[in-house]
Amino acid sequence: QILSQANLNSTLQLSLARTFSSATAPIRATLFPGDGIGPEIAESVKQVFRTAEVPIEWEEHYVGDQIDPRTQSFLTWESLESVRKNGVGLKGPMATPIGKGHRSLNLTLRKELNLYANVRPCYSLPGYKTRYDNVNLITIRENTEGEYSGLEHQVVRGVVESLKIITRQASLRVAEYAFHYAKTHGRERVSAIHKANIMQKTDGLFLKCCREVAEKYPEITYEEVVIDNCCMMLVKNPALFDVLVMPNLYGDIISDLCAGLIGGLGLTPSCNIGEGGIALAEAVHGSAPDIAGKNLANPTALLLSAVTMLRHLNLHDKADRIQNAILSTISEGKYRTADLGGSSTTTDFTKAICDHL
Ligand code: NAD
Repeated sequence: QILSQANLNSTLQLSLARTFSSATAPIRATLFPGDGIGPEIAESVKQVFRTAEVPIEWEEHYVGDQIDPRTQSFLTWESLESVRKNGVGLKGPMATPIGKGHRSLNLTLRKELNLYANVRPCYSLPGYKTRYDNVNLITIRENTEGEYSGLEHQVVRGVVESLKIITRQASLRVAEYAFHYAKTHGRERVSAIHKANIMQKTDGLFLKCCREVAEKYPEITYEEVVIDNCCMMLVKNPALFDVLVMPNLYGDIISDLCAGLIGGLGLTPSCNIGEGGIALAEAVHGSAPDIAGKNLANPTALLLSAVTMLRHLNLHDKADRIQNAILSTISEGKYRTADLGGSSTTTDFTKAICDHL
């Protein structure tokens, strides 16, 4: 069954941890246009927001050209301060050069801002046909540790070691977020995804924490699914799942799999939730260097991420308007980008969305 409008709105509604005092003054939000297709799709968001008269003033931040010793990365301290101060932001994809020896920009943001949960809604878009028409999943990814702790070194020549860190504190925190999300969004089931049969200590601890939290939510069905089996089940019948919670690396992989179920990475939004109610929305996809600068990118994922940001700010009227305009444009099918089988450019597609506002 295709997601109802109310259900869809609720899916994009994150927990409202922050309140904003003024109803009239513009709200300041940090914007990282990012790399690759980032600036093109960020421009699309800015255009749609301008047309919909969203009362947001963007504070744009760019990645520096040298390492800032205070962040140990190309991301400046001022950028981090901007997100801390504003409490909300939108982030374009940031490329991660392989093996260059400095801290990844995404890891820096997640660690420095303590963005502990990454919420990735994935649902069938009305009017856009894929193999399934009933996908309605939320992947909640632990965002600060696991294999992404950045602890790698060479043991001896020809042997390298990477440390997977799982802590009770981070596991409890993300499990609590997942169950709270399920409860407040009328969801019925939380599945913890793991490989504890092999990673007995690390994934074992993650599961133990999920079980502890599950006991506090008797109204939510709790299950544990081994990750390889989870992949098979998702491809066979995505309706078997509802909310999925998992350690960092698994969340990265499973959410791309989920994106494939509904039409690809151009469609899936996400939001990073941090301590103190910080919400930094971003698309699930990366910088797509193969199509960067060609006006071919689908801005939907970043636009829907921006919608999660608006809902976080309680700007539901604007969020509804923009979301409906995006969905009707895709559903009508006249303007679609190449990843969805169409021939529209990013700018044509964006203009069509603005015309639907
Ligand atoms: P990718 O997500 O950038 O691209 C994978 C495929 O999906 C490509 O074929 C691309 O053209 C397509 N695609 C992605 N977004 C699209 C969109 N909006 N519209 C149309 N097609 C789209 O993954 P990748 O190529 O493995 O990674 C490229 C870079 O991005 C790497 O440096 C990686 O580290 C980085 N990355 C960053 C983030 C982030 O900032 N959160 C996430 C993932 C990857």
